[in-house]
Amino acid sequence: MSIELKGAPVAAAINERTGTALGGLLEKGVQPTLAIVRAGERADDLAYENSAARRCEKLGAAVRRVTLPEDAAQARLMENIYALNADAAVHGVLVLLPLPKPLDGEAVRLALSPDKDVDGITDCSLAGVFSGSGRGFAPCTAQACIEILDYYGVGCAGKRAVVIGRSLVVGKPAALLLLARNATVTVCHTKTADLPSVARGAEILIAAAGKPGAVGADCLSAQQVVIDVGVNFAGGKMCGDVDFAAAAPVVSAITPVPGGVGAVTSAVLAAHVVEAAARSLRG
Ligand code: NAP
Repeated sequence: MSIELKGAPVAAAINERTGTALGGLLEKGVQPTLAIVRAGERADDLAYENSAARRCEKLGAAVRRVTLPEDAAQARLMENIYALNADAAVHGVLVLLPLPKPLDGEAVRLALSPDKDVDGITDCSLAGVFSGSGRGFAPCTAQACIEILDYYGVGCAGKRAVVIGRSLVVGKPAALLLLARNATVTVCHTKTADLPSVARGAEILIAAAGKPGAVGADCLSAQQVVIDVGVNFAGGKMCGDVDFAAAAPVVSAITPVPGGVGAVTSAVLAAHVVEAAARSLRG
């Protein structure tokens, strides 16, 4: 039976470090502050917003919610982004993407200040992940995968890692973060030929396809450490991309859904807000 890589202890360890850093900032008179920008009332946006806000507030960071109607004008959205960029009291901005149509998320991505880009959506942050320069912030979910591997002592150097999914939010940055830790990385997507045989060869398998059952028994092998990023609903129940029942008896370790990556993502976000506040102090 595999080891379950639960997210809660990983999040707790990150929160402890964040709490210490945040305390130091409060002593210097800096109140780390996250602004969350949401357009519309999508249930998954609200869930992410509430979990991010709860995590930040519990640690002692302030949260400002900027809520726009689903049919808000692009100009109004951009005014809010520019105002948050210019507001020295706001250290991090989380924009809930994708925006409802016809709002243009790409314009927001290009306009957001890289210094406040705590979820790693701007080109500057992505370039920082690509180059390893440390500029900007890595996308929180991709970093959460790495935090889980680190916490549970799963070394990446020299390992064969396979990432299923190539989005800018998860797959690509996760692949680059694994590469930075000296894994040998393969990225799979919907056009990958014979994905199961590629996946089976992985020692570290990150599933970020957004499809329940995308990773079935034919993708799994013993000694694999599986990080399931997927958040899907099947039969009214939340599940990941990996067929957990098929995986658990076979692989060496696996993250549950829920209770795995998602639990760590909001802790990483809060850590980024505090780091953004610390950087603002350093100038
Ligand atoms: P996305 O933008 O839809 O990207 C999905 C990627 O997976 C695409 O690159 C797609 O390939 C690939 N893909 C889809 N089905 C596949 C299949 N059957 N075989 C191989 N590749 C396949 O999704 P995302 O934003 O990256 O999110 C991925 C999942 O992570 C979703 O379930 C999302 O809800 C979840 N998520 C979780 C968290 C968290 O904190 N836990 C945060 C963010 C996202 P193509 O490029 O060829 O289309």
